[in-house]
Amino acid sequence: MRIDAISIFPDFFQALDLSLLGKARDKSLLEFHAHDLRNYTHDKHRTVDDTPYGGGAGMLMKPEPWGEALDDLLGAEGFHEDTVIIFTSPAGEVFKQATAHELANVKRIIFACGRYEGIDQRVVDRHVTLELSLGDFVLSGGELAAMAWLDALARLQPGVLHDEESHLQDSFTPALSGLLDCPHYTRPDTWQGQGVPTPLLSGHHAHIAQWRRQQSLLLTARLRPGLIDQARGQGLL
Ligand code: SAH
Repeated sequence: MRIDAISIFPDFFQALDLSLLGKARDKSLLEFHAHDLRNYTHDKHRTVDDTPYGGGAGMLMKPEPWGEALDDLLGAEGFHEDTVIIFTSPAGEVFKQATAHELANVKRIIFACGRYEGIDQRVVDRHVTLELSLGDFVLSGGELAAMAWLDALARLQPGVLHDEESHLQDSFTPALSGLLDCPHYTRPDTWQGQGVPTPLLSGHHAHIAQWRRQQSLLLTARLRPGLIDQARGQGLL
């Protein structure tokens, strides 16, 4: 999988080298490049924004640098159906674990990270395949959203996680019927007067699995009852 991000702050993405994504890149399991939108400007000030038509507060990202950047990244062949161009946007569909699973096998993803009041709509209409949101709140730019999704996608790539099976136990995955993960404990067996649930100390695999499933159901029913309805609707429960 190859992922590109276009941003006026490509250095944001350096933080990803620190953890999982760094490892995925080192092992050539995932190729990632961050690009500076200002490299596609032609004036002395490397201008990427302008005032919005119709007036109002704030500035908007101009279409020309975006058009040039996307054309450059897509190369001479132009748009290919294996490529998904994602605009980070509060108006988009909220990214879920199911979105991560859907996108995990895509050959190429390009994240367009907006700033200011966003990008000229014509760029979105012409080039964007998918608009995704990190949630119902407004960020100053799309970089943090793209970084969160990059991390979620990287950990689904085969060979990235130390223990291949571990993402099968994560919250929201089909393997857990889309429910929340159960609580986890490690040594010591008593800490600040609190013990560890006895089934976990039993060494009995079937009892442990049963306890975990029960806890996952109880936790989900308490904190996210909508996920139980969803699982039932999908025939996962
Ligand atoms: N005026 C816009 C917000 C602009 S915020 C509105 O009200 O919808 C600037 C940029 O940050 C956006 O263009 C988008 O790329 C990014 N952004 C802001 N909130 C986001 C969110 N919840 N998810 C993903 N990207 C977001």
